[in-house]
Amino acid sequence: MKILKNFLFVLMLVSVSAYAQEDTKEERKPGHTNENKFKQLYDEFATPNMFRTGSGAPGPAYYQQQADYKMDIVLDDEKARLYGDETITYTNNSPDVLTYLWVQLDQNVRAKDSKSPLINGSGVGPAAFPSTVTNTYLKPRFDGGFNIEHVKDVNGKDLKFMVNRTMMRIELPEVMKTGDQFSFQIKWWYNINDHVNQGGRSGYEYFPEDDNRAYVIAQFYPRMAVYNDVEGWQNSQFWGRDEFALPFGNFDVNITVPADHILDGTGVLTNREEVFSKQMMKRYKKALKSYDEPVVIVTQEEAEKAEKSRSKKTKTWKLSAKMVRDFGFTSSRKFIWDMMAVKLGERDVMAVSLYPKEGNPLWEEWSTKAVASTLKSYSRMTFDYPYHKAISVHAKSQGMEYPMICWNYGRPDKDGNYSDRTKYGMMSVIIHEVGHNFFPMIVNSDERQWTWMDEGLDTFLQYIAEQDFGKWYPDALSPNDETYPSRRGPARKIVRYMGGDQDYIAPIMSKGLNTYQFGNNAYGKPATGLNILRETIMGRELFDYAFKEYANRWMFKHPTPEDFFRTMEDASAFDLDWFWRGWFYTTDYTDIGVKEVKKFVVTDIPNENGKKIAERYNLDPDALVYFIPEGEEGYDEAMKTTTAIEEVSTVKEYLMDNFTPEERKNLKASPKYFYQVTYNKPGGLVMPLIVEYEYADGTKEKVTFPAQIWRLNDKEVTRAIASDKEIISITVDPDLETADVDTSNNAWPKEVKESDFEKFKNKKIKG
Ligand SMILES: [Zn+2]
Repeated sequence: MKILKNFLFVLMLVSVSAYAQEDTKEERKPGHTNENKFKQLYDEFATPNMFRTGSGAPGPAYYQQQADYKMDIVLDDEKARLYGDETITYTNNSPDVLTYLWVQLDQNVRAKDSKSPLINGSGVGPAAFPSTVTNTYLKPRFDGGFNIEHVKDVNGKDLKFMVNRTMMRIELPEVMKTGDQFSFQIKWWYNINDHVNQGGRSGYEYFPEDDNRAYVIAQFYPRMAVYNDVEGWQNSQFWGRDEFALPFGNFDVNITVPADHILDGTGVLTNREEVFSKQMMKRYKKALKSYDEPVVIVTQEEAEKAEKSRSKKTKTWKLSAKMVRDFGFTSSRKFIWDMMAVKLGERDVMAVSLYPKEGNPLWEEWSTKAVASTLKSYSRMTFDYPYHKAISVHAKSQGMEYPMICWNYGRPDKDGNYSDRTKYGMMSVIIHEVGHNFFPMIVNSDERQWTWMDEGLDTFLQYIAEQDFGKWYPDALSPNDETYPSRRGPARKIVRYMGGDQDYIAPIMSKGLNTYQFGNNAYGKPATGLNILRETIMGRELFDYAFKEYANRWMFKHPTPEDFFRTMEDASAFDLDWFWRGWFYTTDYTDIGVKEVKKFVVTDIPNENGKKIAERYNLDPDALVYFIPEGEEGYDEAMKTTTAIEEVSTVKEYLMDNFTPEERKNLKASPKYFYQVTYNKPGGLVMPLIVEYEYADGTKEKVTFPAQIWRLNDKEVTRAIASDKEIISITVDPDLETADVDTSNNAWPKEVKESDFEKFKNKKIKG
């Protein structure tokens, strides 16, 4: 397993460097700007105002709208339909007068006349899954759109509305002024889709062996759109891949399902005694005090028994949630249920998992522990998780987040075996999706517009949380892994993407729907950028303080990209405009190398060049110090006689005349070797210049020049070094911290060392 991984990695490096070399020869593509890389971001940033300040904090006039929901939901398991009767109370906290409201009808992405399938270019591939072929060419189009029965005000009077695909405009009978509240009621139903075969991030999985469905239900009700100071109404259509923008509010939701179903969702279960058996209540009370191991509320045996039942009765589960931006739930008679308590500050939070037997043995072992671990890691980096629970639900091929609840993949084979890939995939997706509670569920950014603000920040913290998880639960790791094998985070992991074909790379500051290589663009690259800021540019202490400040400033609010960028600078005294510009607004990549190293000897005996200089400036040649480069006349001669700079007669005299014996004692160690190193930067990105010198005595020294070293010359910079030891090699970015796409130019002398590939080959031969 490991050898295969290394081999792939080597192949990847080989192809990347070949690619990058080719790429740098090409003309720069449009999209590059010739602007100074250190120009402040005033053109790109919105002007600070009373809503959002120049510091990146909410301003004195900051407001946000509120949408409260009361819903009665009925799940018809026979017909796979969902019925809803919903009352929305909308509060206008804006200073603006509203004449209409926009409501999101996300299920219309699956309406018969949905335009979503029409925006993807589709060809005929060499091979396809039978399910894909059937769905594409054989089956009539599934109709999963909303059926809106009525939209009424609280007095039962019909309201005028218009549906434009996934957005519904409701005309207000009277305009809403600041502070006004308006309640209206929508009755709807829709056919629930099979998310495994028809796609989507909500729906059911059908299990033919026992003829049951497991439902994961989300964006299932008409939801208020966001109205704010930066967008007005955020009513950009839902095409399927892009995510959501939602205001905060309070939810009271009654969900009626078959009596033999197990259900959980966003919010506090307010009628637990009614829906739990006595046995379940007893176990639940035990779970509340179990901090190390999950307590099983519904066992596998009980779940398997329930799979065979077909209750004609129903049960209503009542959930109540405060200050959430959304609501999701899961329901099935197949569910096993376990939970444990997590201490966060003074509070206890429940880490919860629901999974069918198909998820075991993996899920009973690791799901709830991964939830608990994630809450601890993210809370440390941001704020204590403010909700009372976080649920991980097992759903095939899903990785999707809602407040307090998320769907996660990772299923063992039928015989219960699983590969490392399945196990780590499952743990990582749980950490990621539970982490989304923080971004964007609580720090409520606009996902429709800025995918990186939730995915990037979440993926960045996911890396930290994965490393914690590996430390706290070493048993979860495979025997040959010392640390958690994170897929994203470290700089070198983004090299392949950033050094790739510029035609298929978009700046991070692009709407997620419209970017190529979605995962790398919206998850990998922003996460890596933050990791570079934390580990290399700012340092953990300054970064963590500023990041935490951002999280706390915008907790339960709606931040924009500028609010993040500005807060990170405001709380750290780091001018990062150059970094935001390069990493977020362009597709430039890092490539820094050693162009030339000149070695000098210092002497008081001028050669021809030295004499010329003295002559040109009309100076006494005996009163100067001369630096003679290797290879020039006089170098070898001077090397034989000279020991250190203070031994050069002119310097010696100067010291004797101008320094007291005491001062002379305090001079720096005797530099004997002089170098002039020219570093070049074929890559467009500005980055700190990290250099490692290796000395003849085997010691090494690492020096980091801040990115500002490039401020006056974006192509190359030169540094003089005086050293008492001979330098035998110089390496740029020795620990691969900057995502340098071509490391073949990073060393002087060029490639004296065995290449990685040679090393790999030799190691393999040696066994
Ligand atoms: Zn995500």
